[in-house]
Amino acid sequence: MTIDYNYIQVVVDTAALAGNFRLMQAAGGNCMAVVKSDAYGHGLYEAAAAFARAGADTMAVGTVGEALKLRAMPYDGRIVVLLGVASPEECQAAHAQGIVPFVGRFEQLRMMAAAASPHAPAAVALKFDTGMARLGFTEAQVPEVVETLRGLEGRVRPVLAASHLAVADEAGEDAEAFTLAQGAAFGRIVAALREAGFPVRGTLANSAGTLAYPGLRFDMQRPGIALYGANPLHGTDKAALGAGLRPTMRVGAPVLQVHALAKGTPIHYGRTFVAKRDMTVAIIGAGYADCVSRGLSSAGQRIRAWCEVRGLRAPLVGRVCMQMSALDVTDVPGVSAGDLAYILGGEGDTPIAAEELAAWWGTITYEAFCLLGMNPRTYV
Ligand SMILES: *Cc1c(COP(=O)(O)O)cnc(C)c1O
Repeated sequence: MTIDYNYIQVVVDTAALAGNFRLMQAAGGNCMAVVKSDAYGHGLYEAAAAFARAGADTMAVGTVGEALKLRAMPYDGRIVVLLGVASPEECQAAHAQGIVPFVGRFEQLRMMAAAASPHAPAAVALKFDTGMARLGFTEAQVPEVVETLRGLEGRVRPVLAASHLAVADEAGEDAEAFTLAQGAAFGRIVAALREAGFPVRGTLANSAGTLAYPGLRFDMQRPGIALYGANPLHGTDKAALGAGLRPTMRVGAPVLQVHALAKGTPIHYGRTFVAKRDMTVAIIGAGYADCVSRGLSSAGQRIRAWCEVRGLRAPLVGRVCMQMSALDVTDVPGVSAGDLAYILGGEGDTPIAAEELAAWWGTITYEAFCLLGMNPRTYV
């Protein structure tokens, strides 16, 4: 057994990662696997290997640095870089290693051209803003993009055109109209590029778009969160479309000590929670330094979050400390030091769902995965 610097244990299920990729591919056609930010905390290499085994031929990372790590794995398939290129060095590295950056401004096109040659053109993905207002050329700039590409005399070869959906995971007519308008704009952009002699493949849909908007699939989908088992349509009337996605991460922490907390006794910093009956509490070895947010602390007597221990749910009481937290295990028989309490997932009948944890935390599943995944991980 290894002795890590902290007690929290993150276990990633690679079979579930592979299964989720196959499910998305079956549901939504040709998919790349989005593995940015250390595969949403699941581990870049391990997740990419699982998706590649499941048939993924393209990985999407955030930065050129992440792409270079993936190449060195070694991973020989296609890699696209969602945040693009920021310097001539990044352009050279990307071109030399066959990495395809998203480019959404003219200077990036010129930088990529400078790193390439007519004999060895640099492949890029043209990024367009159709409503996200983040990165990309606008639809109105398409003629200028075409002119610029022509002026670069074949040194830059656009292989993909991309845009990103802002509200595909939201319910309601307004969100649907906005998403369809993004799709229509993107359709016009792809058509104009092809018309101009650039045979790009189109990629628009994220996880929610892939599941909920079959009409917006173009040539390749870009699911991320669904591969990690969270349902992007959770809480909407389309949630059933994400059924079958399996949890890929569970996070546990060992019980360090169990003790009685007599009625009327306060617990932890601030003495915010006071036992209203004779209680038993379990101190677990995870706190905010392990990315278990202090925001999960009980608000006085009001419970905000639960863990699963011995197959049952136990509320978090008092403030989450730096490396420890307290659970009320009065109603969970037999809890003792060494038991594992699950902050996410679990092995009993009431595992903590990522969507639940995110709601208690006041965030989204993405952030919970990225943060909890910074801890030491093991793979099954
Ligand atoms: C993160 C990201 C995705 C994946 O989105 P999910 O909601 O996780 O499916 C796709 N495309 C771009 C540009 C992204 O940044």
